[in-house]
Amino acid sequence: MSSRSITPTRDTVAAKDWTPSSWKSKPIKQDVDYPDQAHLNRVLEKIARLPPMVAPGEIHRLRQQLADVAQGKAFLLQGGDCAELFDYCAQGPIESKLKVMLQMSLVLVWGARMPVVRIARMAGQYAKPRSKSTEMHEGQEILSYRGDNVNGYNPDERIPDPERLLGAYFHSAATWNYVRSLLAGGFADLHHPSNWNLHHVKSSALRQEYQGIVDRLTDALDFMKTIGADPNAHPGTTASTLNTVDIFASHEGLILEYEHALTRLMANPTDSTQQKYYNVGAHFLWIGDRTRQIDGAHVEYFRGIENPIGVKCGPSMKPEELVELLSILDPDMQPGKVTLITRYGVDQVDKYLPGHIKAVQESGHLVVWACDPMHGNTKQSTSGLKTRHLIDITKELSQAIRIHKQLGSHLGGVHFELTGDRVTECVGGSMELSDTELLTRYETHCDPRLNYEQALDMAFLIAKYQEK
Ligand code: PEP
Ligand code: MN
Repeated sequence: MSSRSITPTRDTVAAKDWTPSSWKSKPIKQDVDYPDQAHLNRVLEKIARLPPMVAPGEIHRLRQQLADVAQGKAFLLQGGDCAELFDYCAQGPIESKLKVMLQMSLVLVWGARMPVVRIARMAGQYAKPRSKSTEMHEGQEILSYRGDNVNGYNPDERIPDPERLLGAYFHSAATWNYVRSLLAGGFADLHHPSNWNLHHVKSSALRQEYQGIVDRLTDALDFMKTIGADPNAHPGTTASTLNTVDIFASHEGLILEYEHALTRLMANPTDSTQQKYYNVGAHFLWIGDRTRQIDGAHVEYFRGIENPIGVKCGPSMKPEELVELLSILDPDMQPGKVTLITRYGVDQVDKYLPGHIKAVQESGHLVVWACDPMHGNTKQSTSGLKTRHLIDITKELSQAIRIHKQLGSHLGGVHFELTGDRVTECVGGSMELSDTELLTRYETHCDPRLNYEQALDMAFLIAKYQEK
């Protein structure tokens, strides 16, 4: 008698009437006009054959960690470049970004006395939405720069080139490969806060305050080491902290052709009888403020993927629209499935955040509330550069924390544009960077980012609020 092996059958579990390509039947914003469709299709077929960059098991782990954030048991730190460049796929920039994220999160773990969930805007944050599709260059109208995965920053490289999508895949994969190996190898800086250099802090009172936090943090780590305690243990939560650090990759899901090519039907690691659709190009994706139309292509695409997702919410979001969006994106009401990333600007947060919080509370969805204090606070410097003032960023953040508290909600996390390098793009902070110093190292190809020192300032500030 011959024995027959039984192949397990799995049910495909997908959102109603959704397919990985159903977005194509909806109106789309910020679309890219490729001159050669056949070329685009060849590239997309190639990407669709390439292996996943992230695994469903990791995506589910992040889902659990964000459920903890939604329930007030962990804090979310999301940060990275506004526009990541292919050139940042190099040892130095990857190490410095990882270092600043880990140092910030260590300060936050200490301040909040809870685990920090870390999501990098990295390994795929290439596409940029633009308010205008063209710009003037030396008296000529040229296409706007749309991010390294679409066209080049150089004015003579502005025609969209599909090969750049393939470039995005390989640069993302190489970046994340190095992040993974750094973490697996134990990235030393994290464990030695006593070595942190605080010389940049101009005010001696503030430097003393920061030093006080670093000293207490060092003591706490030493104490845990001495008694042999596992600093990773956080009973009742799924996030780990110091030794086995988790970090997740994220980007704005803007170029749907690319996202579609990386959408795969795979076994659900939490239920072996099912297979589901995962975007395997990043753990977390978000919908930008310009592409979140209820009937639009982006919302249609996002409603079908298993990944945790974000939605940017600015002043133009109506409370009832927000509730409708949540019913589409989180129909099963799963805690932490959706992160609402609010970005109103310091002058508008008081006006819009309370209405958004109340509407979501009444709807019953349990979301992660994250504050992006960057995008509503962009200004022009005296020399005409795009900049942001740390004073505005700090104020929007502190007001968001206060408003959440007053309404019986809680701010679950923050979303920053930052870099680990010593650029000069935002004004202020403990280094007291002035408007006239911006030209020294102004390197961004899109929005101004916090530099290393300014990013640490933010972590110290939040830790101080959380300690209260
Ligand atoms: C961004 O995060 O870089 C961005 C474009 O944000 P928003 O969609 O909130 O404007
Ligand atoms: Mn930006």
